[in-house]
Amino acid sequence: MKKLIYLDYASTTPMDERVLKKMNNYFTINGIFGNPSSYLNIFGIEAKNSVEKARCNIANIIGSKKEEIIFTSSATESINLAIKGIININNSYYQKNIITSISEHKAVLETCYYMQKLGIKIIYLKNSNIGSINLNDLKEKITNNTILVSIMHINNEIGTINDIKYIGNICKKKNIVFHVDATQSIGKYQLNLKKINIDLLSFSAHKFYGPKGIGVLYIRNNKKKFKINPLIHGGGQENGIRSGTLAVHQIIGISEALNISVREINEEKKRIKKLKQQLWDGIKNINGIYINGDLKNSSPYIINIGFKKIFNKILMIEMKNIAISASSACISNTHTSHVLKSLGLTKNLIQSSIRFSFGRFTTKKEINYTIEYLHSTIKKIRKKY
Ligand code: PLP
Repeated sequence: MKKLIYLDYASTTPMDERVLKKMNNYFTINGIFGNPSSYLNIFGIEAKNSVEKARCNIANIIGSKKEEIIFTSSATESINLAIKGIININNSYYQKNIITSISEHKAVLETCYYMQKLGIKIIYLKNSNIGSINLNDLKEKITNNTILVSIMHINNEIGTINDIKYIGNICKKKNIVFHVDATQSIGKYQLNLKKINIDLLSFSAHKFYGPKGIGVLYIRNNKKKFKINPLIHGGGQENGIRSGTLAVHQIIGISEALNISVREINEEKKRIKKLKQQLWDGIKNINGIYINGDLKNSSPYIINIGFKKIFNKILMIEMKNIAISASSACISNTHTSHVLKSLGLTKNLIQSSIRFSFGRFTTKKEINYTIEYLHSTIKKIRKKY
């Protein structure tokens, strides 16, 4: 068996051992296992204190207040809560609209599609040819009836970066609520919400070496501007916005994972940028190869490469000891990529594209191996088919 190499960090990351070690104290009778809502017994108090410490830590890191952090089960849940929760069932939303972009993650697009069925108009912004939204287009599309703008920071398929600071300023001027899907950027980019006008921000731990099953929705405390209504009703946890017993071990996990990521952010980003460049330099002379998106104006953690006349699924089968991805993990089994389509790629070109994504445990040696393997496999496929 050849060595296994993981280059699919954008779909999920392995948990960091240091995170697991911290979490291990929160399961058993010898640890802090209590229910944080049981505030009259010592087990509950201990658990509640741990949760609030973690909440404070996350708030400090992203530049928010601790009451503005709501724990959820995933970025998908946070996104649903942000977009659906903006609606107050007592108000009329006739002729109101939400603005988003065609290359958002399915968590945003499918939620918007659901809102459309409720009668809200959804306005989709188109991309530039490198995949970021057109800011003038956004300015033109905002109307007095716009209730929300939802734009992702980093695209999960091609790594394109949207200028969320600029968009935040546009939304602030027009007094419109701004939601950011920061699932691919938290832990990799240092966002300071004191300096950026973001009202709602979604992310999850499993993209930065924390556990799966825990996410955050940041909700700016601005009662005059908007209110988020709950989707899950029950015991009133999380200020009544998200009921359900808090998963203390997961909350400890996301907090510790964020701590480590932020502590190592600059060094790690520098190292990973070099790995991305190394991969591209090593294969860019292969015939019929090109980048989807842009090499420079994109996240160092993601590169999406097209291999003309090579079917991506065949390349993936031939290279099965290297974990790469045909597109986003959420759509790779069902549809062709809507993100690549938004760049104007034909179906054939979409089916010739592969996402490589890098992370904490990727090494130079692994990239060298991938380069050699890509050269030989492409030669083999072009001879065979
Ligand atoms: N948004 C983006 C940009 C993503 O990359 C993902 C996951 O791939 C999600 C949302 C959904 O995240 P989760 O798996 O935590 O629900």
